[in-house]
Amino acid sequence: MFRNFRTVSYVIYGRGCFNQLDDILLKKREENKSFMVFLVDDVFKNSDFAARIPAKPQDMTLWVNVDDEPKTRYVDALTEQIRSFSKSLPAGIIGIGGGSAMDLAKAVSLMLTNSGSAADYQGWDLIRHPAVWHAGIPTLSGTGSEVSRTTVLTGPQKKLGINSDHTVFDQIVLDPELIADAPNPQRFYTGMDCYIHCIESLTGTFLNAFSRSYGEKSLELCREVFLNPGADADDKLMMASYFGGMSIAYSQVGVCHALSYGLSFALGIHHGIGNSIAFDYLEEFYPEGVLEFRRMTEKNNIQLPRHIAPNIEAATVEKMVDVSLVLEPLWENALGKDWKRIMPRDRIKELYHRMLL
Ligand code: NAD
Ligand code: ZN
Repeated sequence: MFRNFRTVSYVIYGRGCFNQLDDILLKKREENKSFMVFLVDDVFKNSDFAARIPAKPQDMTLWVNVDDEPKTRYVDALTEQIRSFSKSLPAGIIGIGGGSAMDLAKAVSLMLTNSGSAADYQGWDLIRHPAVWHAGIPTLSGTGSEVSRTTVLTGPQKKLGINSDHTVFDQIVLDPELIADAPNPQRFYTGMDCYIHCIESLTGTFLNAFSRSYGEKSLELCREVFLNPGADADDKLMMASYFGGMSIAYSQVGVCHALSYGLSFALGIHHGIGNSIAFDYLEEFYPEGVLEFRRMTEKNNIQLPRHIAPNIEAATVEKMVDVSLVLEPLWENALGKDWKRIMPRDRIKELYHRMLL
């Protein structure tokens, strides 16, 4: 079976294009007279940027906190907040921020039209009804959330996305000026998420010419941004993230992401940093990628955290292994159909021990 996947319907790109958001929404407002919800990373509360958000008096602005990566119960609470704001559905949800805020916007737009808890839909193609129209506006680049068909959530049992065609944004606004003030090391770690997407996609068994075409271009852009940056580094990083996301749309990520999900679930470590911590120990799987990644960390003066939980309980490590083993397509992409034999529990545990102890 060939994957038949949906992509973002409308894309606007360029420095200053955020100023066109009002016009874009005006068209939507004509089609649907209801209110808009601006779901914005609270790092921008009281910033000059906040004053540029084109909210009208009838609209709702939800400042979201992403100190913790998105949880299913946070999605449920935000959905309830919108339901108590008005009896009618909003005309649109506009998510502004990094991967976390964009994922929250995707999840809320799905949960407004699908009953129950977000935790009920963690998995593949479980969503029944189309989402409320939703737009994504990245202020950090690398996750590829702006183009992906998933919203990654931590639930009571697992960290797993709501993967569906309805998850995909209807509109994205890619304005490189919005990522200019993202601080290091966060900018680096989120950028490495993109770099690792490319390495895992390009070395995976699911690779085809579609994924390779996007992955190779994204990798080239990552190299320019993190090894030889120029004045247009933000423009390139934004496109690297988009292409990296498109590359994994038709392939998958691999060992690093499978391990990183366990780190996030058990220790609350954010995705980009978790990937960077794990990737440094994966030379046996990605020899060239790991060496180049180390050059990037040096060039960008990044000190990777090591021995991050020396006193961790054995039961927590077991849970991390469980979380990572749920991600079967990732392991299969990385290691082939025989991955269960190649990667028994003990080998995963040993890799975690090297990062943790
Ligand atoms: P993030 O959204 O978690 O943000 C990290 C930090 O940077 C936060 O403190 C945030 O407030 C801050 N920040 C964001 N933009 C800023 C700016 N312009 N200036 C200053 N601070 C800013 O980081 P991320 O790496 O973009 O996203 C990680 C999340 O994305 C994780 O939850 C991960 O699971 C998810 N993810 C989703 C997908 C997908 O396809 N849906 C793919 C990969 C990762
Ligand atoms: Zn990732």
